[in-house]
Amino acid sequence: MVSPKHVCVIGAGVSGLAAAKAFSARGHRVTIVERSGDLGGVWEPARSYPEVQTQSPKDLYRYTDRAMPEAYPEWPTGPQVHAYLAGYAKSFGLDRMLRLDTEVAGMARRADGKPGWMLTLTSKGGTPSNEDFDFVAVCTGQFNEPRELHCRGEGSFLDQGGQILHSSTYGDPSLAKGRRVVVLGGSKSATDIAVNAVKSGAREVTIVMREPVWRIPYFIGGLVNFKRILYIRAQEEMFPGWGASPMARLALRLAAPLIWANWRGLESLLKAQLKLGRCKMVPKERIEDGVNCSVPIATPGFYPMVADGRIKAVFGTFDHYEADSIVMSGGERIGADVAVLAIGYKLGVPFLPEAYKQKLVDADGQYRLYRLIANPDLPELGFVGFNSSFCTVLCADLAANWLVRYADRQLAKQPTAQAMRDNIEMMLQFKRVERPAAGVYGGLCVAPYHYRHFDELMADIGAKEQKRRGLAGHFQPPDADAYAKFLATAPEYRAA
Ligand SMILES: Cc1cc2nc3c(=O)[nH]c(=O)nc-3n(C[C@H](O)[C@H](O)[C@H](O)COP(=O)(O)OP(=O)(O)OC[C@H]3O[C@@H](n4cnc5c(N)ncnc54)[C@H](O)[C@@H]3O)c2cc1C
Repeated sequence: MVSPKHVCVIGAGVSGLAAAKAFSARGHRVTIVERSGDLGGVWEPARSYPEVQTQSPKDLYRYTDRAMPEAYPEWPTGPQVHAYLAGYAKSFGLDRMLRLDTEVAGMARRADGKPGWMLTLTSKGGTPSNEDFDFVAVCTGQFNEPRELHCRGEGSFLDQGGQILHSSTYGDPSLAKGRRVVVLGGSKSATDIAVNAVKSGAREVTIVMREPVWRIPYFIGGLVNFKRILYIRAQEEMFPGWGASPMARLALRLAAPLIWANWRGLESLLKAQLKLGRCKMVPKERIEDGVNCSVPIATPGFYPMVADGRIKAVFGTFDHYEADSIVMSGGERIGADVAVLAIGYKLGVPFLPEAYKQKLVDADGQYRLYRLIANPDLPELGFVGFNSSFCTVLCADLAANWLVRYADRQLAKQPTAQAMRDNIEMMLQFKRVERPAAGVYGGLCVAPYHYRHFDELMADIGAKEQKRRGLAGHFQPPDADAYAKFLATAPEYRAA
């Protein structure tokens, strides 16, 4: 018997909607608390920059129980993703669970001694109130608290008319027209904004990044959708994974020359296709050493604009501002009217009490989460969307399905607290020592190990079918429809 719980889902982005759907489908009462005025999280229109579109192809950026509309392009625009999410919420009644403009400001264990948490909620213009919940799903994403960067001379740069803004507030491209725009950062947002500034008539555009990184074009070799090469199990198996058996290690060692040739071939293709040599943007790092969630898609037009000088690329970072210029760490001075800081976001769960934060995050910033979802020392609490990837919607969906079963003690492989702790330690060792690239974003990234992660979740859930077999299983990207079928093979239950 599973008793119904009152569950608070914090955040109404992709992950919050997945969690609300999974918990309500099992018979739990759900309240979704969202601090902004609309659902969608990073796809909320007020937060999107012009021309934003997904990096993931649409069949990989979707829930298991709802495809994106046929009419959408392969890489949907921001407004299209938002419309898809709004439609998803409506059709499953999630919109009725929403409490918008309400922020979780704090949490503590319940005062009535029952399992669960008391949340402090603040709504716009209202006074804070406390509410008890039996279970809390944290779905607050990794892109919410913009990172800040303050450099010497900033005050005088602003005083003489300069403008400094975070990439998340670059919403009006007319800002760039006729001005000298300097973008700091090497992410997809940074290159998107640099390209947008050129198209919007900026007088000069400079992009400043620490070093060139590998970027993946939407079509590799100009022909093949990157999902058919980079998202497939056969490619993933070339990366040494965690907990590998001696046999698996031997197999990888024997295949090493082929694997090496595969990566060098891909590098050569990317160098030729993107003209990286001409742009002086050939990365130093081997492509296989850096693959994780931070590998960006190449913004169309970016490399051609670097090659013909419409975008100037500088390697380094800002050192200080001086009058109407920014002086780089290498000493170069760049005239600027607008500085766009595409420097990412701060990770964290600010409303979690300090004692629990220490259980969740190690001193080096690595998160202690079993399957990137739960921590045995944080009871009645789970995290959805902390398993970020190149197909985050599918990750969030499967994590939400895992979490509700974990909360209800209905996982086929319900782990003991000790087994969770041991697994967390093993994974931390893997990220710290064996594959440092897996430690980015606090270790909250499953790429390039999507399939391994999904296999673990499906086995825990108890799905009788867990993966596609045969050639299709090795050479096709993750298939959300197939995962819907696999989930349906897991034991059924409902809280009552
Ligand atoms: C421009 C852009 C493009 C992207 N493209 C892709 C892509 O193509 N493929 C991909 O896999 N990923 C992509 N991502 C990553 C993206 O973050 C995830 O795909 C996904 O949207 C994250 O959803 P989420 O619900 O976990 O987090 P978010 O979308 O960040 O939602 C979290 C929500 O929690 C709310 N919240 C936070 N704190 C509180 C609080 N204290 N109280 C109440 N509410 C709170 C926030 O307001 C927000 O609405 C992209 C990200 C950005 C920024």
